[in-house]
Amino acid sequence: MKIHEHQAREIFKKYRLPVPDSGVATTPEEAEKIAADIGGQVVVKAQVLVGGRGKAGGVKLADNPADARKKAEQILALTIKGLPVEKVMVAKAVDIEKEYYIGITLDRDRKQHVVIASPAGGVDIEKVAEETPEKIGKIWIDPAFGLHPYQIRKMLFGVGFEPNVAPKAAGILQNLYKLTLDLDCSLVEVNPLVLTKDGKVAAIDAKINFDDNGLFRHPELKEMKESEDTDPIEREAHARGLTYVRLDGGNVGIIGNGAGLVMATMDEVKRAGRGIATPANFLDIGGGARAEVVKDSLEVVLSDPNVEAILINVFGGITRCDEVAKGLLEAIEGIELKVPVTIRLSGTNEKEGRDILQGSPLDAVGSLDEAAEKIVGWMTEKSSV
Ligand code: GDP
Ligand code: MN
Repeated sequence: MKIHEHQAREIFKKYRLPVPDSGVATTPEEAEKIAADIGGQVVVKAQVLVGGRGKAGGVKLADNPADARKKAEQILALTIKGLPVEKVMVAKAVDIEKEYYIGITLDRDRKQHVVIASPAGGVDIEKVAEETPEKIGKIWIDPAFGLHPYQIRKMLFGVGFEPNVAPKAAGILQNLYKLTLDLDCSLVEVNPLVLTKDGKVAAIDAKINFDDNGLFRHPELKEMKESEDTDPIEREAHARGLTYVRLDGGNVGIIGNGAGLVMATMDEVKRAGRGIATPANFLDIGGGARAEVVKDSLEVVLSDPNVEAILINVFGGITRCDEVAKGLLEAIEGIELKVPVTIRLSGTNEKEGRDILQGSPLDAVGSLDEAAEKIVGWMTEKSSV
C-alpha cells in the first residue's frame, strides 16, 4: 500500500524526523490560507501516488500566499502519469545547499533490509544509480544484530557524506529503521534529504510503502488507504473487493469462479469470437458465488459501456449448482440486464441448477463451447443489423 507524501510526513514527525511545517489543500484558496499561516516562501506539491512530480511540473515554489494560490491552481489542473491531481501540499520552503538520498527497503534475495544512501540525491537519483553506482552506498541489516550508528556512519562517510551531515543522516536512518520495523514497511525513502543554507538537515520528500501482508497488524493505517487505480471501473471494482481487470477493446464481459477458469473462458471467447467477440475484462468471483458478490460483479461489468454481452462461467464443486443458481436469481433482482447474459453452469447438481434458471433472463447452458457459441451468435446478429 502506498500513501501520499503528506501522510508519510505525519508518520515521519512521530519518529522525530526533521520535516518542515505543511498543510494539505484541495482548492487554490485553501492553499493560499495555509501559505499565509506558514509564512514566507512555500513549496506547493502535487499529492499523487507516483514519483517524478518535480519533473512533471507538480512541485513549485511560491513567494507569498497569492503566489501559492496561483501555483496551486496550476498544479491542481495537472494529470501526472495518468493520475489527476486532487490535492496539493503546501510546505515551508527550505533554502537548499545540497540534496542527498536515503532509504530503506527489503532485499528479497538476501532476505534482509538494506539501507541505501547517496550524496547525489534529488530528482536524478535513477541516473546516478545507472551512471555512477559508486555514489550509492548500501548496508544490509542482520535482524538479530540490528542497525548500529557506527555501521551507518562508516557507510555514509565511505560514499561521500560530509562530516556536518553524516551524523545527522545516521540518526535519521536509525529512526527510519525503527519506523520500517514498527509499521511493516516495504520501502521508506527520503529523496531528497537536504542540507540547508543555514546548516540544518531536513527531509523534504517522504515516501512510505507498506507491506500489504502486514496491514492487519496496523488497523490505523487502513484509513490512509486511497485508490491507486487510474481506471474508474477498476477503482469501483476494487472498492467492492472484486478481483477485476479491465481490458482494452473487448466487448464481452467475463465472470467466473476461479482465476484459471476465468482465463480459460477468456481464451475460449477470443478463439470462438473470430474477432467479433473479445473479452472486455477478467473478473474472478472466487469460490462460493454468493449472491452479493455476483450482484456486485454484474453491476461492475454492466457499468462498462463497451460490454455488449456477458458470459458467466461457474463450476459448482463444493458449492452445488442449485445453490449457485438460487444465488444468481437473488443477485439479478433489481439489476437491469441491458445486455444478454449466458451462464455455463456445470458440476454438482448441474441439471437442478439449470432448471432453476429456466425462464430467467440468464441463459443457462452446460458447456463452455455452447456458451461461447451463444455469445458469438448474439454478436453476429448485432453486427448484421
Ligand atoms: P519528486 O519529484 O516527486 O520526487 O518531488 P520532491 O519532493 O522530491 O521535489 C522535487 C524537487 O523539488 C526536489 O528535489 C527539490 O530540488 C525541489 N524542492 C522541493 N522542495 C523544495 C524546497 O522547499 N525548496 C527548494 N528550493 N526546492 C525544493
Ligand atoms: Mn523526491
